[in-house]
Amino acid sequence: MIGTSLGKMPTRRGLVTIVIGLVLTAMAVSARGAMAALALPMWFVIGWLVAWIWETSSDRKSGPSPSRFARPSGSPGLRTTLRQDPNAHFVTDSRGFLFRRRFWFEGTGCPPVRIPLQEYRDLQSRQARDPVMVAAAGARRYWWWEDSFWWENQGYESLDVKALVSRSRRQSQRTLQHAHALLAGEKIRARDPIPEDVRRYIWKRDRGQCQQCGATELLQYDHIIPWSMGGSNTVENLSLLCAECNRLKGDAI
Ligand SMILES: [Zn+2]
Repeated sequence: MIGTSLGKMPTRRGLVTIVIGLVLTAMAVSARGAMAALALPMWFVIGWLVAWIWETSSDRKSGPSPSRFARPSGSPGLRTTLRQDPNAHFVTDSRGFLFRRRFWFEGTGCPPVRIPLQEYRDLQSRQARDPVMVAAAGARRYWWWEDSFWWENQGYESLDVKALVSRSRRQSQRTLQHAHALLAGEKIRARDPIPEDVRRYIWKRDRGQCQQCGATELLQYDHIIPWSMGGSNTVENLSLLCAECNRLKGDAI
């Protein structure tokens, strides 16, 4: 046991073991003469035990007090969610064994969770490539990717998180581009109503079905080239889509 502590010198536990072992040996020798040195291994075992108890108890010392946002959220919530967590971050303190630095993760609805140093370093290097799970609290799991944090409640895998976060980034980029275009004074044409005879023609041609999935409910006249991009109310530019397919198409543009 001393060997494993000493192997990774200088560990704090190894140092404490050596110091206590040497002090006890010196005390024994001065009290009872050189023969006491024969009990040498015993003094070091005692030293190791003291170090172990000391380390265990000081590592149990409480961490940073939770921030307001870190209070566990009441209900787990049934909604499918993946959300960026701008509050999430790591906190460190030096209150571990012999002032050892300790790392804690804290997120929205997640009180500080201790992350061992080695694990912290490992996560830190891996998050540059792929989302890594840092902690879990209640139904939420917290992910770290490219220096931002996200939580989800669906038990996603790293790849799922990657796909969803990428999509959400693309969407906000599009929204931003659109906003800039508006600001630049690009005129959005007012929509002309689709003439009745065109509607009737489309309905008949598309057999009253969504042209994507075949649904016959909640149908809408969809502009293949969107109206906002110059598409017109001609039969070539119109088709029937159900509300869901239309929404998905809107997301994809
Ligand atoms: Zn459809």
